Amino acid sequence: MEEKLNERHKDFLRLIVEEDIRTNKYGGKVITRFPPEPNGFPHIGHAKSICLNFGIAKDYNGVCHLRMDDTNPTTEDMKYVEALKDSIKWLGFDWNDKLFFASDYFGKLYDYAVRLIKMDKAYVCSLSEEEIRKYRGTVTQAGKESPYKNRSVEENLDLFARMKAGKFQNGEHVLRAKIDMASPNMKMRDPLLYRIKHAHHYRTGNEWCIYPMYDFAHCLSDYIEGITHSICTLEFENNRELYDWILDELELELPRPYQFEFARLSLNYTVMSKRRLLELVEQKYVSGWDDPRLPTLAGIKRRGYTPESIINFCESIGIAKSNSTVDFAQLEFCIRDDLNQKVPRVLCVMKPLKIVIENYPENKVEMLDAPYYPHDVPKEGTRKLPFSREIYIEQSDFMENPSKGYFRLALGQEVRLRHAYIIKCEQVIKDETTGEIVELRCTYDESTKSGLRAEAAGVALPTRNAVTGEQPSSGADNSGKKVKGTIHWVSAQHAKKVEVRIYDRLYLVENPDGPEDLNPDSLQVLTDCYIEPSVAEEKIDDRYQFERQGYFYRDPINSVGDKLVFNRIVPLKDSWGKAMAKQQNPS
Ligand code: ATP
Ligand code: MG
Repeated sequence: MEEKLNERHKDFLRLIVEEDIRTNKYGGKVITRFPPEPNGFPHIGHAKSICLNFGIAKDYNGVCHLRMDDTNPTTEDMKYVEALKDSIKWLGFDWNDKLFFASDYFGKLYDYAVRLIKMDKAYVCSLSEEEIRKYRGTVTQAGKESPYKNRSVEENLDLFARMKAGKFQNGEHVLRAKIDMASPNMKMRDPLLYRIKHAHHYRTGNEWCIYPMYDFAHCLSDYIEGITHSICTLEFENNRELYDWILDELELELPRPYQFEFARLSLNYTVMSKRRLLELVEQKYVSGWDDPRLPTLAGIKRRGYTPESIINFCESIGIAKSNSTVDFAQLEFCIRDDLNQKVPRVLCVMKPLKIVIENYPENKVEMLDAPYYPHDVPKEGTRKLPFSREIYIEQSDFMENPSKGYFRLALGQEVRLRHAYIIKCEQVIKDETTGEIVELRCTYDESTKSGLRAEAAGVALPTRNAVTGEQPSSGADNSGKKVKGTIHWVSAQHAKKVEVRIYDRLYLVENPDGPEDLNPDSLQVLTDCYIEPSVAEEKIDDRYQFERQGYFYRDPINSVGDKLVFNRIVPLKDSWGKAMAKQQNPS
C-alpha cells in the first residue's frame, strides 16, 4: 500500500487522511462517501469524485459508502439511482453492502430538528420566500432579524409538528437555524433547515410533506453513517461553517465527520451540470443520456472509452484547491494512450473508391498474413487479409491533380497497399454526366508483395521481426522499389459493409452557454463503409484501431443481428493539438 502511494504525488486530502490515521482520530478508520443526488446521469465530473472517494478508501483500507442524497422529491428518480450504480461498477469500484439513501434518515433528521428546537437553536419562520431573501442582507450589509425569531420553544415545536402533519401550504412556514443575521458568512444568517413541499417522493411516497435542506441533511447523514472524511467540491466551502455548527450544536457523541473541499472538474467544449444535460436530453438535442457525445459516464462508455482511461485521466488532472478548466485533449490523450497498447489494428474504408487491378487474375484470391499489432505493442496475433482484383480505397487517397508532396495515389503514380502490393494508377474513369470519379484502373507489381524479403531469406513470417522490430508487412519486399505512401484498402468482394459514426465536439465554443452554441456537425453517420472480414468473423475485440483513421468501438446497442455499427472513440492524431501545446507552454 505504502509503496503504491509513494509512486504518485499524494494529494492534500490523502495527507490529511494520513495525519488522522497517525493521530488515531477515528481509531484508524477511514470512511468516505460518494453522495450524488439521483436527479440525472453521472458525468465525468462525478468520476473524479468517485475515483477520489473510493480511491482514498481503497488506499487506506477504508470503506466508501454510496449514498443517494435524495432529499428533493420533485427531481429524483430510481432510473438515476440505477445509472449511478452502473457507472460506479463500470469504473471498477464497489460499495459492497454500503448503499444508503438520505431519505431513509428522514425520521432521524426530523428528530434532530426537534432537538435543535428544544435547545432553542432553531425556529419556525413565517416570512415569505421573498421576505426571507430581503431580510438576509447582502455581502456588504448585515441582515435583519426575522420577526418570528423569538417564538417560544413550545410554539416552535407545535408549528413544526403541524408542518410535518401537513397542516400548511407550501411556503407558509420554514424551519430555520437560530444563528446570526449579521454573520459575514451569508450561509450562517439563520439558514433554512426544512421546507414544506407537498410532493411525491420516489422512495417515501407521500409520507412526508416537509423535506430537509441539503445543509441539514448532509452533515447529519455523514454523522449517522460514521463518515470520517466528507469530501466535496469547492462551492461548498462557505457551507462548511454550517456543517460544523449543526454537528457541534447538537452536542453529538464524538468523533464526528469533517468536511474538506477540492476543485471540481470542468472540461471545455461541453457542459457538466445535470440541469443542462437534462435539457439536452429532454429537448432531444441528443439521443439520450448515453449519447456518445455527452460527458455522461453512460455516454463515454457507449462511445467506447475504457474505464482504465477515465481512471488515468482522473489521476492525471490531480486534486487541487482552486478551480480550473481541463482541456478536452487531455481526456483524448488518455484514451489514445490506453488503446494504443491494447487493441488490434485493422483496415476499414469509409468513403470508398473502387479500383480494378487489371493485371490481377480475375478469380484469384490471396490470403495475406497481416499482424493485428504493431511491433511496439506486446501482443501477438495475425489475421488473413483477402486480396483480389477489385478493391476499395479511400476517396481521399487519390488526387487527380496531385499537389507537390502528395505521396498517395495519382495518375501514373505508385503507392503501397498496406500488407499487400505496390500498385500504379493507369486510368481514371469518370461518370459521363457528373464528371465524378467512379473508378480507377491500376496495375500491381507482383514482386512487391509485403514480407517477401523476409520469406525469401528463409525466415518464417513472424508478426514482427524480433531483431529489427520491423513489420514485415510495412513494405519490405525484394523488388528494390521504394514508394513514400502506404494506404489502407479492402477487397471489394470480401469486405463487410458497416456503419461508422464520427463524433466531434458537442459545442463550438469553449464555454458554451445554451443550445445555440451546439455544434451542428457533432455527429456524422457514414453508412457506406467497408471493413476487412476478420472484424465480422473473428471478433477478437470490441475496440479496434482502423489504421490511419482512429480508434473505434463496436456499438453494442446499434449493432443488431448482422449489422455492425462502429463509434469513433477518438481520431489518431490530436486534432486539439494546438490547444494542448498552448496549455503546456503558455507564452
Ligand atoms: P451538477 O452540478 O452536475 O448538478 P452536483 O454537484 O449537483 O452536480 P451531485 O449529485 O450533488 O451533483 O454530486 C455528487 C458528488 O459529486 C458531490 O460530492 C459533488 O461534489 C461531486 N461532483 C459533482 N460534479 C463534480 C465535478 N464536476 N467535479 C468533481 N466532483 C463533482
Ligand atoms: Mg447537487
